[in-house]
Amino acid sequence: MAKAPVLTPQAEDFPRWYQDLINKAELADNGPVRGTMVIRPYGYGLWERMQQDMDLRIKESGAQNAYFPLFIPQSYLTREAEHVEGFAPELAVVTHGGGKQLEEPVVVRPTSETIINEYFSKWVQSYRDLPLLINQWANVVRWEMRPRLFLRTSEFLWQEGHTAHATYEDARDYAAHIHRNVYEAFMRDVLAIDVVPGRKTAKERFAGAINTLTLEAMMGDGKALQMGTSHELGQNFAKAFDTTYLSKEGKQELVWQTSWGSTTRMIGALVMSHGDDNGLRVPPRLAHIQVVVMAIKGDDTVVAKVREIGDRLTAAGIRVKVDDRTDTPFGRRAVDWELKGIPVRVEIGPRDLENGTAMVARRIAGGKEPVALDALEALLPKLLEEDQELLLTQSRERRESRTSEVATLEEAAEVAVGGGWARIPWADLGPEGEEKLGEQSVSVRCLVAEDGSVPVADDAPGTVAIVARSY
Ligand code: AMP
Repeated sequence: MAKAPVLTPQAEDFPRWYQDLINKAELADNGPVRGTMVIRPYGYGLWERMQQDMDLRIKESGAQNAYFPLFIPQSYLTREAEHVEGFAPELAVVTHGGGKQLEEPVVVRPTSETIINEYFSKWVQSYRDLPLLINQWANVVRWEMRPRLFLRTSEFLWQEGHTAHATYEDARDYAAHIHRNVYEAFMRDVLAIDVVPGRKTAKERFAGAINTLTLEAMMGDGKALQMGTSHELGQNFAKAFDTTYLSKEGKQELVWQTSWGSTTRMIGALVMSHGDDNGLRVPPRLAHIQVVVMAIKGDDTVVAKVREIGDRLTAAGIRVKVDDRTDTPFGRRAVDWELKGIPVRVEIGPRDLENGTAMVARRIAGGKEPVALDALEALLPKLLEEDQELLLTQSRERRESRTSEVATLEEAAEVAVGGGWARIPWADLGPEGEEKLGEQSVSVRCLVAEDGSVPVADDAPGTVAIVARSY
């Protein structure tokens, strides 16, 4: 009799498969309040690696970390009309504190443009104070109606960048720099996800922005996921909060601003991009455990050797976990590491020791073969690099094979409903076509230029709309 699969197969029920994987790979649990999430240590380990890498890139871009309060006076949000309109349905509002009704309700931050501007307006005096580049690592709350673990939770973890510049051009260029050189570079080079950079249509823009730049990725079932966004805010918040500076010419001017965010959603993206019927596959550059060295049996010489090899590989710069829990059957442990997506397993038993070898099992490329123990340090980094490349290639091939060029709205909807992406000239679709697509739960994910660059305006000649269903 065939063994029952550990996870619901993807082809049978993709959303069930996703839930199963999150649960069995011990990434997260549902919280007691609807839409909230408990991130378990293995899932949090992935987040920590994302944070570390992204934090370096943000700092290289000149921004500094700071921290602003979780509670925002409700009146701050109402100062920017579009912003409050966009966020009002998702706000959590605190009306009582210390057993008493508050004089003014406070909002739990859904994002921090307002409170940060309140302080920017104090800190920025002259052109010498600009650009002001701030990033915050924090949690935010948006009362989501259709929550899904990692992808859309009511409370999520993120980084939010907020900047102020002297000129429109400087702000525009900085938003584009974060979009391409920080977010896209990280998502491609570390997450191994073949993201498409583009601009949002006016309908999908961030509430209060003049332009939203996005990265869209195709998940395993052909749907799109918005992986991160970088906004040009123009002078909208500067006007609402009177964030002005004295120019070189001695004139009082409003600043130009950007904001940008990426979240724990990226963990969900990793699962839905790289996962298969046996579990997650973690790209080696991200993995906090790249190689697990396993003792097959609880024999003293085996356990000693496994620990020694673990130390040697760690010294060689590989992120290693030694698994000598031999009171748990080997098969169970191996399935568990498969589920968690550890790129390489080095398995050692008494017979391997006699031969001076270990079995090297590869989660991403597949296959298992004996390798001489003293060849491991040289070989494993090469395998890990190959695996990293392979995941990105598979991600790109999926997107390419499931994307079609179409000429009409009907065709675009059909492709999207069928689980693919459609590319259609924006001039042939337009805001009216976009509305119509919405009736079939299909949306314009982003606008791109024919050469793959990001168009400077919605109506720039040759602009193409990418149409899909999304998470
Ligand atoms: P925004 O500030 O609305 O531009 O959001 C920044 C990024 O956060 C988006 O690009 C999404 O990738 C992500 N995001 C938005 N809502 C959620 C949510 N409820 N849970 C997790 N991530 C989210």
